[in-house]
Amino acid sequence: MSNSIFENAKMLAGKTALVTGGTSGIGLGVAKRFQSLGADVWINSHEAPEDVAATLEDLNSNSALPKVQFAQADMADNVKIDGMLDGVLSVNGRIDILVNNVGIQHVSPIDEFPAEKWQQIIDINLSSAFHLTKHCLPGMSENGWGRVINIASAHGLVASPFKSAYVAAKHGVLGLTKVTALEQAEKGVTSNAICPGYVWTPLVEKQLADQCKVHGLSKEEVIENIMLAPQPTKKFVQIEEVAELAAFLCGDLAGSITGASLPIDGGWTAR
Ligand code: NAD
Repeated sequence: MSNSIFENAKMLAGKTALVTGGTSGIGLGVAKRFQSLGADVWINSHEAPEDVAATLEDLNSNSALPKVQFAQADMADNVKIDGMLDGVLSVNGRIDILVNNVGIQHVSPIDEFPAEKWQQIIDINLSSAFHLTKHCLPGMSENGWGRVINIASAHGLVASPFKSAYVAAKHGVLGLTKVTALEQAEKGVTSNAICPGYVWTPLVEKQLADQCKVHGLSKEEVIENIMLAPQPTKKFVQIEEVAELAAFLCGDLAGSITGASLPIDGGWTAR
């Protein structure tokens, strides 16, 4: 068996990958890595096409690589998700790699947590993964090859205060990952969850103010005492590190890794 990520620079040539929430942060990093390995990549976001034009232009500046395409849809809306899938399938005819990456955050004590925020986080962070997995699996199993990669979180394995919806959704993503793996085990389709610790992205930057408020700390104190304190390395995880793990999971040599929840958290969940 070949297809080692270290030996095959075009390991993903001929594969179509869809990355939800792929216009920023971790999703964008994963999309870039897949493109560099030869995949036809679609990046999704709810944003307007004009707002992602610069990102796409940057991704597509190297004419030697396959063009990355934009799949606009709000991941809170199943009808829009269906429309997006139809759009990708009408162009590429297949989705071989599904990266359920989209995620949002809200920081607040449970007794003050707005019910609509709870629902939005469950819809976007958990239910979109179910809906997309449900619709991508038939094609993958028919082809005898597929990869479902769920970008969960260290918060899929352990909890932190003030993140009830996020922690509940991410624990749910791990459950979905395992069930998908069991149901697809004999069909060449693997399903795994990547569980990053804190990665410096717009999602983390945006929650700084709320974290300051609930903990009564300055921004510097939140970074040091809340974000980096649980990570024994005392460093943010790098986007490229998460992307490389996702790429490895796409290789044929990762075919026996399925149903796994893989921490990439600087040792956070080893405690
Ligand atoms: P980010 O904020 O940088 O990117 C989020 C992406 O999702 C963007 O492309 C945004 O446009 C898109 N998006 C937001 N709402 C959407 C919607 N309703 N429909 C479609 N797209 C939508 O976030 P990130 O930090 O890169 O996080 C990506 C994933 O990684 C999330 O699931 C997050 O929970 C997870 N994660 C992040 C960290 C971290 O520290 N950054 C740690 C662990 C897990």
